[in-house]
Amino acid sequence: MKKRITGALCALILILAVILSSCAGTEPRSASFQSMDTLMSVKVYGGDSDLCDRLQRRIDSLDAQLNATDENSDVYQLNQNGKADVSGDTADILTRALRLSKELDPAFDITVYPAVKAWGFCSGDYRVPDDDELKKLAAKIDDTAVKTDKNTFTLPEGVMIDLGAIAKGYAADQCDAILKEGHAAAAVLNLGGTIKLYGKKPDGKLFSVGVADPDNPAGYFGYLSCEGGVMATSGGYERFFDLDGKRYIHILDPATAAPVENGVRSVTILCDDGSAADALSTALFVMGLDKATAYYQIHPDFDFIILTDNDELYITEGIMDDFTLSDGYDFTIKSVEIATAQTDTSR
Ligand code: AMP
Ligand code: MG
Repeated sequence: MKKRITGALCALILILAVILSSCAGTEPRSASFQSMDTLMSVKVYGGDSDLCDRLQRRIDSLDAQLNATDENSDVYQLNQNGKADVSGDTADILTRALRLSKELDPAFDITVYPAVKAWGFCSGDYRVPDDDELKKLAAKIDDTAVKTDKNTFTLPEGVMIDLGAIAKGYAADQCDAILKEGHAAAAVLNLGGTIKLYGKKPDGKLFSVGVADPDNPAGYFGYLSCEGGVMATSGGYERFFDLDGKRYIHILDPATAAPVENGVRSVTILCDDGSAADALSTALFVMGLDKATAYYQIHPDFDFIILTDNDELYITEGIMDDFTLSDGYDFTIKSVEIATAQTDTSR
């Protein structure tokens, strides 16, 4: 009799343990923290209990290596001394950035740093450089001049690097490895507006991600249902200053060293590769609608949502049916088709 009761008790404990562990799998763990100069939040379903901490530590470590304003970082040392032996992470992101820059030339260039500084976007002491200064700054924007020998990078006199346009996307890619190692079932990482979607949600539903309204970045003009990937958004609303009735934004045209003014308000990219998503969002913003569309038609291995100043929303056909406009937004939605003639998915 005693044996039977003990057996029943064991079975009950086992059932309870299974119920509790399956609950732990559906209830996500989450954390919010400041890193890479922005607020980040991570939500992880299942996997090791310390995954949120590990993600934060990985992102903080990348920030410490890549932040151009941190005196101890690799990028600061490289910019100050014109030459530096850098960590494996820094060498990896620099190599990726230089490769992407070749593909996205002349819209994306990591040597914009002196121009970014001159406009005051690093210090907050905003100013408008005159034409002469802009010409000199533009002449120094050229990342083909960056020399690489394994982990040693060399910059010509006056050239400096800024990884701000790619660092969050790269961090999203590095988080992917941590989520895999830690056996996460699913995760949603919001790295300051760059969103990484991982795995399958326990309820089996797709992820629904808001696309920030440039006029009210706390709100969303629409939602995109996605299975996974990284969603990166670039827009002037992220950093800008107003002077004498004119707005100056932090995304610069490498050809002129001046803020972009081309009728684009925001660019959102959805792509499996986070570094590419981040670089593309900045680059397509600089290209403007027509060149961005032409680029997509040759490299249709990503999707975009481009919002223009006249409230037109251009959405690539791959995600057209997955997008829902929020109530109260009167945008004209236009589909961007893949041209059948010439495609190159080599990225
Ligand atoms: P994102 O928010 O990803 O578009 O990155 C914008 C940041 O990248 C800016 O704050 C600058 O630090 C830097 N940046 C600005 N213009 C460019 C450009 N054309 N190419 C590469 N980096 C840029
Ligand atoms: Mg970017």
